[in-house]
Amino acid sequence: MHFKSTQQKKYISKKFKKMVSDQNGYVSKRVCVVGAGPSGLVAARELKKEGHDVIVLEQKQEIGGQWLYDPNVEDEDPLGKGLIRKVHSGVYASLRVFAPREAMGFPDFPFVVKEGGDCRRHPGHSEYLEYLKDFCEVFGLRDFIRFNTRVEYVGMLNYEGNNGDDIKDLKWIVRSVNLKKQTRKRDDGDEKAAAAVAAEELFDAVVVANGHYCQPYLSPIKGMEDWKRKQMHSHVYRTPDPFKNEVVVVVGNSQSGQDISMELTKMAKEVHFSAKDKSVTEGLLKVISKCSNLHLHPVIDSMYEDGRVVFIDGNSIIADTIIYATGYSYSFPFLDTKGIVKVNDNRVEPLYEHTFPPLLAPSLSFIGIPKMVLLPFFELQAKWIAQVLSGKKKLPSFEQMMISAQEFYHSRDLSSIPKHYTHAIIPYDGFEYCDKYADFSDSPHLEDWKKELVLYSASKYFTDLENFRDSNDHDHKMLQLAQQIYNYTKV
Ligand SMILES: Cc1cc2nc3c(=O)[nH]c(=O)nc-3n(C[C@H](O)[C@H](O)[C@H](O)COP(=O)(O)OP(=O)(O)OC[C@H]3O[C@@H](n4cnc5c(N)ncnc54)[C@H](O)[C@@H]3O)c2cc1C
Repeated sequence: MHFKSTQQKKYISKKFKKMVSDQNGYVSKRVCVVGAGPSGLVAARELKKEGHDVIVLEQKQEIGGQWLYDPNVEDEDPLGKGLIRKVHSGVYASLRVFAPREAMGFPDFPFVVKEGGDCRRHPGHSEYLEYLKDFCEVFGLRDFIRFNTRVEYVGMLNYEGNNGDDIKDLKWIVRSVNLKKQTRKRDDGDEKAAAAVAAEELFDAVVVANGHYCQPYLSPIKGMEDWKRKQMHSHVYRTPDPFKNEVVVVVGNSQSGQDISMELTKMAKEVHFSAKDKSVTEGLLKVISKCSNLHLHPVIDSMYEDGRVVFIDGNSIIADTIIYATGYSYSFPFLDTKGIVKVNDNRVEPLYEHTFPPLLAPSLSFIGIPKMVLLPFFELQAKWIAQVLSGKKKLPSFEQMMISAQEFYHSRDLSSIPKHYTHAIIPYDGFEYCDKYADFSDSPHLEDWKKELVLYSASKYFTDLENFRDSNDHDHKMLQLAQQIYNYTKV
């Protein structure tokens, strides 16, 4: 189906204007959610609850997003070059959740211990995937998800420039391809049929929930292009086995960089951790002091064809492999907003409250953009989007939203927060941000005991990196309080 002719467009917009409204006058919209990771799933639930007609398009065969562990990384470009990834998840085999389970669940569906499951407070990644699958079953979300369906294009049907009327009545064209059917046809050698498995549909609104830990970010280093040995982004790191007896450099002081380095010390000959000096935590320094084959270095100055890696303090080593744990970039390769929304030095702009691009709001929204927030935060975003789309909640005017976005960016600049950390929330705003979003949709605030547990766990991460996921000295009072409410885990 192609929406090309003016007649077709008129017919479709007439049809879409007949949107259902309930006795309160709230409108039901036809909404497309891109992605069935935690953000997309909770978006689907909240949109359904609010009475919208929802379809979730997911490129993988299963829900979970990052939590759908993918061991098959061989076909992926190790440095993540190009815009389309074969591998979505950057989760490695040994990964355990960072925040305690009490804070990882959605408020009305806690991440409790499951019989026969991994009952640790920071369980392995597969336990969280099981939780998400249960979430899907309990809320009947699978019926609305179209699997193996990659969104290739999202664009505006009736946008003809910066004109108020067009913007109010925006409709979105979503073009997607069924990857399974396409592969089958290609396997049969039928290229024409393979190209024809694309679908084009029209929606009142699109919620983008494609995740932001998929497009590797690399900062250029002198000699990187010519370095002949193994170089990869942590996105495709899975286990330490391939690095047996190697000399490995791990670049970047991210959580993944630290986890991977600690794990590699058991398999590699030497692990050289390269970080910006100031960012090394007490917890990591403790690990380094205990581990004879883990060495701390400043950032890399240059790399040479013979395998030499020279650090800015003049020291050098000969390495077999370099793993860049240098984070990710926001990427929306399918989204055509005619330049209205841009990714500028990893700032997605302009966005009102990290969610709505003022000019295209509310028909286009983003969920899951804020970094370092707890997953329940995405539920608050989802509720807000659903309520704004139905008309239950109103957004400020375009001008007010633009001013708010600009003021926010300005405040970040004034605090010398680099632009690429625009969407990193927790370290700068604490839980105020969560509470503010709860207020947007009249939702309860995150419970104080949850906030305390998370802060406690984070402080442990900084001081006792090796054991923070297993430490048993957590504030018992807090845990006992949690335990009275749900069977999270044994205290
Ligand atoms: C190594 C690692 C460790 C992490 N550890 C933690 C942790 O301990 N605790 C924590 O809270 N968070 C952690 N995270 C962050 C994690 O990303 C979030 O928990 C969560 O997965 C974000 O959910 P999301 O739905 O926004 O994105 P994702 O989980 O990335 O889901 C996005 C979904 O969109 C789909 N998609 C993308 N593009 C398209 C397209 N064009 N068409 C159709 N579908 C598409 C993807 O296939 C995917 O299913 C970690 C991330 C990484 C990489």
